[in-house]
Amino acid sequence: MQAFDFVRATSVDEVVSILRQNGNQARVLSGGTDLLVALREGRAEARVVVDIKGLPETTEMSYSPESGLRLGAAVPCYRMYEDEELSSLYPGLMDSARLIGGVQIQGRASMGGNLCNASPAADSIPNLIAHSAVCVIAGPNGRREVPVEEFCVAPGRTVLQPGEFLLYLQIPAPRPGFGAAYQRFIPRNEMDIAVVGVGASVQLDESRSVIQSARIALGAVAPTPLYVPEAGEALAGQRISDEVIERAAEIAKAAARPITDMRGTAEYRKHLSGVLTRRVLKKAIERAQAS
Ligand SMILES: Cc1cc2nc3c(=O)[nH]c(=O)nc-3n(C[C@H](O)[C@H](O)[C@H](O)COP(=O)(O)OP(=O)(O)OC[C@H]3O[C@@H](n4cnc5c(N)ncnc54)[C@H](O)[C@@H]3O)c2cc1C
Repeated sequence: MQAFDFVRATSVDEVVSILRQNGNQARVLSGGTDLLVALREGRAEARVVVDIKGLPETTEMSYSPESGLRLGAAVPCYRMYEDEELSSLYPGLMDSARLIGGVQIQGRASMGGNLCNASPAADSIPNLIAHSAVCVIAGPNGRREVPVEEFCVAPGRTVLQPGEFLLYLQIPAPRPGFGAAYQRFIPRNEMDIAVVGVGASVQLDESRSVIQSARIALGAVAPTPLYVPEAGEALAGQRISDEVIERAAEIAKAAARPITDMRGTAEYRKHLSGVLTRRVLKKAIERAQAS
């Protein structure tokens, strides 16, 4: 493994300054469960690794009914699902937190790191898109916000510019009648990469029988996680029924543009996109009706 300098940063300015000085030879470390493996295998290079877990902004996890959940970029998954209030407010988000790796990985791995790693098959990204999460990015020119669906631009590549890093994710507060869910298909129960993953959310009306709006996003079926707004639009204003769910599932299936690889053929992945969209929509509706 290549030798590198390790800095445990204590301020946003310090991180930005190190990233600016070292260009692509500086890497941000949240949980390290992707980064350290990549460095060890020679898939990534770094002269300096900046640990951001010493920053209050990246480790903060706080909720308010007005602004929702502020999730620091380096908050490990276990802190999310062990928080009873957050687990009951965001059961859909916890679907991802609970299935990334196993218990040991969840002790370190963050949703911020999962997002910045920008794998097309990442388990938190379709779910964050379904939850309308927004990235708050810090950099040499201050802060800017980017919706999660615009953050990944290619496998392993994001909108982050030199000197920038992800500070935290802002996730809207769930209103009554909101529900979300994420499911993936993998050939075994854990420790595998999604063949397809689907996140969905719905906002129901007061009667809980009409869908006001919906968001659907797919993983592992395109070079980046894929937001499918037209699938949500097909549900908006519709009374809940198997037919409208089926129509949205067909739209999601049609939007998927997967490749064939060792985990599955393109045809199989397209089929799974429809099946999982149907299942997560039903789960999201069930949660919304119980909210
Ligand atoms: C055994 C094992 C099982 C796994 N199982 C799964 C799984 O089931 N599902 C899944 O999706 N993933 C899985 N992973 C991959 C990994 O655990 C996740 O992607 C995890 O969420 C990454 O988070 P992290 O905090 O460890 O990121 P890190 O490894 O710290 O960072 C990942 C990448 O993002 C960059 N980065 C991190 N934070 C920031 C930031 N704030 N700003 C800018 N760049 C940043 C890093 O430089 C690096 O390139 C697995 C990994 C292992 C080793």
